[in-house]
Amino acid sequence: MDETLKLRLQQQEPVLWINPVLGPVAQAQVPVEPAQVKEAEENWRSLAPLLTRCFAELEPHNGRIASDLIEVADLARAMGCDAGQFYVKGDHALPVAGSVKARGGVYEVFMYGLSLARKLGLIAADEAPEALAQDAVKTIFADYTVAVGSTGNLGLSVGIAARALGFHAVVHMSSDAKPWKMERLRRHGVDVVQHQADYGSAVAAARDQADADEKIYFVDDERSELLFFGYSAAAAELRDQLTAINIKIGPEHPLFLYLPCGIGGAPGGVAYGLKQVFGDHVHCFFAEPAQSPCALVQLAAGLNHVVTVYDIGLTNKTEADGMAVGEVSQFVAQVMQPLLNGVYTVLDDDLFRWLALANQHAGLRLEPSAAACLGGPSAITATKEGQHYLSQQGIDGVMENATHVMWATGGSLVPDEEYQDFLKKGQALLS
Ligand SMILES: *Cc1c(COP(=O)(O)O)cnc(C)c1O
Repeated sequence: MDETLKLRLQQQEPVLWINPVLGPVAQAQVPVEPAQVKEAEENWRSLAPLLTRCFAELEPHNGRIASDLIEVADLARAMGCDAGQFYVKGDHALPVAGSVKARGGVYEVFMYGLSLARKLGLIAADEAPEALAQDAVKTIFADYTVAVGSTGNLGLSVGIAARALGFHAVVHMSSDAKPWKMERLRRHGVDVVQHQADYGSAVAAARDQADADEKIYFVDDERSELLFFGYSAAAAELRDQLTAINIKIGPEHPLFLYLPCGIGGAPGGVAYGLKQVFGDHVHCFFAEPAQSPCALVQLAAGLNHVVTVYDIGLTNKTEADGMAVGEVSQFVAQVMQPLLNGVYTVLDDDLFRWLALANQHAGLRLEPSAAACLGGPSAITATKEGQHYLSQQGIDGVMENATHVMWATGGSLVPDEEYQDFLKKGQALLS
């Protein structure tokens, strides 16, 4: 990795890293295919009636797990940006799990339930998934375990989804997991195992246990294609929302997407999906904590060997739950290498400031991780690396027409007491 970049990361300077090996979407050589996004969209459609039966809150939405696209011009102005259109994609309020993880975790668990039911002959191959919503199936599923390793939100999503289908559920949590997330899972009947180690170790422990027992299904955040494609279906949702408000994307009308990144699955899946929709006119940037820029260090070093944030002397300690990941998914790194436009890093104090601004200027309830998306527009438009990128792309003259979408990844399930503490901290930092 470039020594200047490494030094800046070590000194906790927020950086914007531009991917030097970005290529045209049409020529990207990656280990997945666009057809898999379409397939995931169809699977979500066929699961919708079952999802409605399992989660009453989905009834008014016809079983769709979807979020609003929220216009936030005031918030953007408060953060010093005014050229272009500004939106927040409101996954902080996503039904079922209150975070972007509902798109991945629910999808993988329900797809597993469906394939298991077919394998066991509980439903016929051509029978609709809705047939899983019966006590006889739940009784049989109670004998099977769905396990996951998680710093919090994936555990919530997978645990809640697994219990809804009747599975026994085990969530392996890292030492930094928040007590309220564990309590909430226990209330749903999920077994929570706490590990005195970081995220990677919690995942490894869960994976080993599952490997030894065929009645345990392990949701593998580091390797799962099902999670990745569950997330990717969000691209079509955003496309339809942009169409509905008459926003066209093209050479003169670029789309910028800012995605908080932990292990990489959620932002990677969404970005991959959107690249299929908008091609080179969508500019996808991951946001990472300054202490945990795992995607940045891996992509900047190239993919020949594994590089973690510890390797360059960072602690991987951040208040951004779900983003305290030391090593990016190697699967996601391979997919994103030719497709990701760049990565910017954010300081924890800024996350709290932005969380407070989002509350004040847009009435949004975000958790610190989600607030990372809000730093995107200024990282691109107000830094010299960003300016250089825009002129290199030939779009510095059309930024008045740009649409910025900040992907707010979580927050609505944070207990009020906890949220008020975040807010106070942010307000204190602002004043
Ligand atoms: C999980 C999560 C992310 C990052 O998703 P990854 O798939 O781990 O990259 C970002 N924000 C929140 C709130 C999350 O829960």
